[in-house]
Amino acid sequence: CGIIACVGSTNAVDTVLTGLQNLEYRGYDSAGLAIQNDTDLVVRKRAGKISDLTGGFVRELPDGVSGIGHTRWSTHGPPTDANAHPHTSASGTVAVVHNGIISNYEALRAELEGLGYAFRSDTDTEVIPHLVEHYLDDGYDSDQAFRKTIERLEGSYAIALMIEGEDTVRAARQGSPLVVGLHDDAYYLASDVPAFLEFTDEVIYLEDGDVVTVGEGSLSITDLDGTPLSREIDTVDWDP
Ligand code: GLU
Repeated sequence: CGIIACVGSTNAVDTVLTGLQNLEYRGYDSAGLAIQNDTDLVVRKRAGKISDLTGGFVRELPDGVSGIGHTRWSTHGPPTDANAHPHTSASGTVAVVHNGIISNYEALRAELEGLGYAFRSDTDTEVIPHLVEHYLDDGYDSDQAFRKTIERLEGSYAIALMIEGEDTVRAARQGSPLVVGLHDDAYYLASDVPAFLEFTDEVIYLEDGDVVTVGEGSLSITDLDGTPLSREIDTVDWDP
């Protein structure tokens, strides 16, 4: 349903929670976030309201500069804590938030279960972190593992993904909206502009097939093969 991500924020926990609150108007049944702190990629997620997340459950999180967050509107699997996003790989190395539907998830899930990957949710989304971990285990680097995963997905998606130990957020879209926000050295990614409007009004509207890599002080937008794409920066002129 809704995605927010930030890189290079002074306080990623606050930024992602603010973004989640800004996305509430879209409707949702569950919410969650992943924050990269000094060493770990830490996930908190729950069925229910964002206000259930904002208490000690999230506030005691060690802060970081990068994070991803999600408000879920279930399509595959009921609204439970386990089905809330972010979804993670078995080792916890990969965390993913996703809007839309992966239409070939049953075949991918069967393939991954055949390889020994144990699933913990009913969602279509969970194939994504396991695929990325599978390609990392095969020796591909983070960028290659992400692109090889995207190549396998059919259906509609906006995805934001983090790999433990990296402040980078990787994103891709096909048939679901995704927009980049820029402000000095900080970057934001969201399913729609209101998610980050109090942080910046400088935006790039992504297009289907775009693959985005946002690091501290760096933004790259390419096609799936890695060929750089040029995208206009727009200034949004509506009030937060
Ligand atoms: N298909 C995914 C799920 O059911 C994502 C739903 C959404 O867009 O919130 O978890």
